Amino acid sequence: MKNNTFEEIGSVLEGADNILIFPHLNMDGDAMGSSAALCRMLRNMGKNCWIMLNDGDVADNLTFMDKGYCTCDPMTIPAPELAVTVDCSEPKRFPEVGWKYEQAPVKISIDHHMIQETASDYNYIDPSSCATGELIWLLIKAMGQPADREIAEDIFAAITTDSGNFQYSNTTKRTHEIVAELFDFGLDCNRVSTALYECVRPEKLRLKSRVLSAVDLFGDGKLAMARVNQALLKETGAVMSDAEGIVAELRSLKGVEIAAFLKEGEDGEVYVSLRAKGSADVQKIAASFGGGGHVKAAGCTLHDVKLDEVYEQVKHTALLALEAQEDRS
Ligand code: 5GP
Ligand code: MN
Ligand code: MN
Repeated sequence: MKNNTFEEIGSVLEGADNILIFPHLNMDGDAMGSSAALCRMLRNMGKNCWIMLNDGDVADNLTFMDKGYCTCDPMTIPAPELAVTVDCSEPKRFPEVGWKYEQAPVKISIDHHMIQETASDYNYIDPSSCATGELIWLLIKAMGQPADREIAEDIFAAITTDSGNFQYSNTTKRTHEIVAELFDFGLDCNRVSTALYECVRPEKLRLKSRVLSAVDLFGDGKLAMARVNQALLKETGAVMSDAEGIVAELRSLKGVEIAAFLKEGEDGEVYVSLRAKGSADVQKIAASFGGGGHVKAAGCTLHDVKLDEVYEQVKHTALLALEAQEDRS
């Protein structure tokens, strides 16, 4: 699949008046920040533009970016001319509103996940970018549209969250150059970081401590696993979006090469978050369960399954991957 240029994508955006943005479900900082920056630019251009939420559950620490851009009502724009997927490129990543994306006669995907094909007419897919926020920034510049402090803060939020605050291997010179540019538009990195990282609800901390006290280590400490079920959410008063970030803690353990964190949904589904350190590749593991993502961060969702059974399956698959890796080295 060949990428379009930002100029081509820009002219398609310029030609439409009613535009819906589709981030992935369980929005993270990149999905929210990228969508918010794009929505703001398009509204500044006079467009009727909304971020179409898959469900109502925007994590507390991301709501500061929603300046009235998000809607849960698919009829907010009854007949969208253009659908833009952001930080994802397949309708299965926003299952509740995939039909709305299909409704749009023209579709664009802007994403940094590894993907061979999309269902969109125009694409900018760059797996070498640490965040979709980098791509949105390059798009805004290519279109010659003005940026402001809000856009700068959204892009910073997208980049800091998806790069593990500039620690992950996807962080590049370009990442830092983009962030340097954001300061010219009034970025207050401390304000954004405080909103993102230091506004934790006690319920979230309680959930984290319960989950982390039950971490399992397998394969000589190379595989760390943990899970959260619905009962634990009830006990701690937390919500599933409070589990964001736990998988990074699992990977932070010394000697861990693969971290797997499983979340039990309300309707028999299990969401698996995977992280890799060193030379491990979790994208392949996620793909074997029908998901995907990046080499170092990937995920998948299984339906009509039991949490504990998926736990065993993921453990088995991850241990095989670690063994295969040892054989290669
Ligand atoms: P997280 O664990 O943070 O939810 O997800 C890790 C990475 O994998 C993110 O970049 C996320 O977008 C991606 N990811 C999670 N689930 C899926 C999936 O089912 N398919 C694809 N292609 N990517 C996924
Ligand atoms: Mn994301
Ligand atoms: Mn992302």
